[in-house]
Amino acid sequence: MAAAAWFSTGKDDPSFMKIAIYPGSFDPVTKGHLNIIQRAARSFDLLVVCVMVNGSKKPLFSADERMSMLREVTANIPNVRVDYSDKMLVEYAREVNATVIVKGLRAVSDFEHEFQMALINHKINPNVDTMFLMAEHQFMYLSSSAVKELGRYDADLSDFLPESIIPLFKKRMKESLGG
Ligand code: ADP
Repeated sequence: MAAAAWFSTGKDDPSFMKIAIYPGSFDPVTKGHLNIIQRAARSFDLLVVCVMVNGSKKPLFSADERMSMLREVTANIPNVRVDYSDKMLVEYAREVNATVIVKGLRAVSDFEHEFQMALINHKINPNVDTMFLMAEHQFMYLSSSAVKELGRYDADLSDFLPESIIPLFKKRMKESLGG
């Protein structure tokens, strides 16, 4: 049987689908996040981008707002779904039948923490592996916090944020600064 025929038969059965999760705060989604989403979506049947609760960060946007911005900027990628979870990541992975957690690595500084998290997650749920995608060089320095820092001033954000979310971002920054 030709490989292509075998593959398409397999995919009719959802248990054959290769599902990955890309978790994060996405407060807000940046062009760096979007680049990881576009690249990871090419390698899996389904990529679930999941807005996770991070107790140590006070977000600028609500979880619903972060999800709707993610939906807007990924609307043209058919195998991406956006979700929210306050569960433990590996627990959420089990629920959605994901076998891979995708992470973006910007610099050596990301590595130590991510390496530790990957080992812990794999220990808790050995069916889940973490795969890292290197940040593209033009997004290496980009983080949501850096964008929020820039947002305090009237800086041009078009290299950092998807065009469609810039107006909402600027409005929210103004409100948060009491302007
Ligand atoms: P941050 O608030 O630091 O931007 P998030 O928690 O929203 O981070 O990030 C979610 C995931 O996306 C993490 O795996 C992080 O390493 C990755 N990531 C964040 N920014 C970038 C970027 N510019 N390029 C590649 N990966 C990134």
